[in-house]
Amino acid sequence: MKYVDTKVVFREVPDEVTLAINISNCPVKCPGCHSSYLAQDIGEPLDFDVLKKLIDNNPGITCVSFMGGDAQRELVGEFSRKLKQCYPGLKTCWYSGRDLEQAKINFDTLDFVKVGPFIDEYGPLDSPTTNQRFYAISHNGKESELIDWTHRFQKTTL
Ligand code: SF4
Repeated sequence: MKYVDTKVVFREVPDEVTLAINISNCPVKCPGCHSSYLAQDIGEPLDFDVLKKLIDNNPGITCVSFMGGDAQRELVGEFSRKLKQCYPGLKTCWYSGRDLEQAKINFDTLDFVKVGPFIDEYGPLDSPTTNQRFYAISHNGKESELIDWTHRFQKTTL
């Protein structure tokens, strides 16, 4: 797995200060892809030591989000599991370009997941017609429960 860049963002995960890590080698091929360069296998290798350095260099974040990584989705889950051990309290999110059924990994290690390809005519998460979904993942029951938070991205009109 390789990453192209990182950025601290405030809207990608509601209520969180998130370190977004842009992962390359995207296999999804969304029809309206806004970042086609991410289909290439470019950037720096991302292993757990690199991940820890990125986090340690960004004090104050409350969440880490893997933006992509569909080519190695099990590794996303593994990173998230290890992060939970090293950084108790730090939340984790995965932005997948796949639909929910295809994106399925062990959600027990994640706090949030966004699923769905980008389709220009339907728009991103803040579009009322979006096909994408953003879920908060509750771990209170025996099995992880996905709670649809997509409405939190929608623009409201008064
Ligand atoms: S998930 Fe879709 S929009 Fe995102 S980089 Fe991959 S092809 Fe492009």
